[in-house]
Amino acid sequence: MALIRCEDVSIGYEGQTVVRDLDFSIGAGDYLCIVGENGSGKSTLVKSLLGLKNVEKGRIIYGDGLKKNEIGYLPQQTDTQKDFPASVYEVVLSGRLNSRGLKPFYTNADKKAAEEKLELLGIRDLAKQCYRELSGGQKQRALLARALCATKTMLLLDEPVTGLDPIVTAEFYQLIRRINRESGIAVVMVSHDIESAVEDASHILHLQEKMLFFGTAEEYRKSRIGRRFLEGADKAENGGERHA
Ligand code: ADP
Repeated sequence: MALIRCEDVSIGYEGQTVVRDLDFSIGAGDYLCIVGENGSGKSTLVKSLLGLKNVEKGRIIYGDGLKKNEIGYLPQQTDTQKDFPASVYEVVLSGRLNSRGLKPFYTNADKKAAEEKLELLGIRDLAKQCYRELSGGQKQRALLARALCATKTMLLLDEPVTGLDPIVTAEFYQLIRRINRESGIAVVMVSHDIESAVEDASHILHLQEKMLFFGTAEEYRKSRIGRRFLEGADKAENGGERHA
């Protein structure tokens, strides 16, 4: 059974539908990239997958024992988050909040999980440093460690490389690939970078008011819609129009 299945889902704000007719599923260990122009409903869908926003129509079904609060989430960066006045360790440890329930203090298992994730992401030496003093790339690693503390099954990343330079971006993508392949954690990533998406992801969901495409990255590359958008991305690099 799929971890998440969306059946005929439409989502909107105050009666105004933003994205409609979504029919797709995410399986264990999948790497799904959600692509589409600004305003096409990617972040709105993310909120619904996390259970933070009700759907207008259809249903989202969680399977394989996945609970909404066990999805590790790396939100889009806001200026407030960038200035968060806590140590890197505290930020990472806070990923355990959802699973802590009503217990007032972090357990030893929580602390061990935070230390393991710091090690995994190569930021153990930054543990005591203030989060707001980190570089953009280090901040994203800390937030990824935090998201990993919240899950064993699925990571949901909303435009995680925005504002990072190309080298740090490439390193971040490599890290995500490694986590996906080595630990089998399913990855759902909202991305503007359609070329990297097709290279790394197992599946592509392309939104534009509705579901323009859902299938494997290979199928997307061969599809009419995929070819059109990938050629658009090539042209954009040569000074042409960028479609997505
Ligand atoms: P994307 O992530 O693809 O850029 P969003 O999901 O953020 O798109 O937004 C999709 C549409 O929903 C946009 O037209 C946006 O203006 C609208 N929208 C987003 N958030 C809200 C909100 N809280 N209230 C009303 N409209 C919203």
